[in-house]
Amino acid sequence: MKKIIVAIDGYSSSGKSTMARELARRIGYVYVDSGAMYRAVTLYAIRHGMAGGGKIDRDALVAALPGISVTFEPAGADGVQHTLLNGEDVEREIREMQVSSHVSPVAEIAEVRERLVRLQQEAGEAKGIVMDGRDIGTTVFPDAEMKVFVEASPEVRARRRLRELEQKGAEANYEEVLENIRTRDHIDTTRAVSPLRKAADAHVLDNGRLTPAEQMEWLQNLYNTISNE
Ligand code: C5P
Repeated sequence: MKKIIVAIDGYSSSGKSTMARELARRIGYVYVDSGAMYRAVTLYAIRHGMAGGGKIDRDALVAALPGISVTFEPAGADGVQHTLLNGEDVEREIREMQVSSHVSPVAEIAEVRERLVRLQQEAGEAKGIVMDGRDIGTTVFPDAEMKVFVEASPEVRARRRLRELEQKGAEANYEEVLENIRTRDHIDTTRAVSPLRKAADAHVLDNGRLTPAEQMEWLQNLYNTISNE
């Protein structure tokens, strides 16, 4: 079996991170959640007064970029890889609504993308990696051996996101979550730099139709086939 790069792209809250993380665990690959990197930069902007009301002070954030480091701590006792912003564990904070509301405008900034894409490409240099995001199969790893594009309706995704937030004890309501998903979809698919698009050679997974177990079986079979070619 050869070592490959697995790129999993899709809309927000499509369940791609859960799938990507589980696949990586099963096949012994490194897992990178590229969305967490955009979220960490967004948290930095919020903390430093560069974000408010859905707007970002682009120039201030671009000037601050050299001083922002985003790294990961391997999964610990909770089985989840933690995101570090300048060395501080921010895994919980980057999932909050305030970050979700500002992350897409941050991810539109070309300089932010340039920097994070470079870090993501470095992480994949030795292959043996599963990365999920929006532009992994199109921009970050256009030559990835395995590309998956995950689809699900905004309503299915809003229900999933609401469940996740409730499980974490965060306050949220369905309408607010659905609105956030629709807004992010719009920004993510229409931005000038690396918009969310299905790569021509991506395999489509419609996870509104499959149970989590069926999705994993589909993903594992695809991986087995491709890595044995
Ligand atoms: O995957 P997640 O929903 O955590 O990503 C948060 C946001 O980061 C997305 O809505 C998108 O705006 C941005 N993103 C991106 N490119 C990626 C991953 C995430 O633009 N590769």
